[in-house]
Amino acid sequence: MDKPERELTEDEWRERLTPEQYEILRRHGTERPFTGEYVDVKADGSYRCAGCGAELFSSETKFDSGTGWPSFYEPAVAENVELRKDRSFLMVRTEVHCRNCGGHLGHVFDDGPAPTGLRYCINSCALDLSPAQAPAAAGTPAEAES
Ligand code: FE
Repeated sequence: MDKPERELTEDEWRERLTPEQYEILRRHGTERPFTGEYVDVKADGSYRCAGCGAELFSSETKFDSGTGWPSFYEPAVAENVELRKDRSFLMVRTEVHCRNCGGHLGHVFDDGPAPTGLRYCINSCALDLSPAQAPAAAGTPAEAES
């Protein structure tokens, strides 16, 4: 699709996303804790936006928060996330969005670990893990594609 994600209509988003992804990214939903596919994943890789593919978080900053949602102490690319005040549910929280497509990812709290003290609490459904390339075994030259 050539159209920038920012210009997609709600119908186009509904076509592109699963119902669960749509509910979270476009309707500010939250998946139930301990149900998302990335909660306990420790694999190396890059977590991208499930809406548009923008690089958001790295496995290197993922930590076990015990909350039931994938948690990171900082974004991989700061310019790719956008923070907004969220005053729903009689609380003031900070919502985390993908800057590229505007999708809602989760919230950020200030009870995270060092070095930032932040906890980006992100819905698995809003993420897509691109696994890191496994390093070639020592002494085994990588096979060239011909
Ligand atoms: Fe996005």
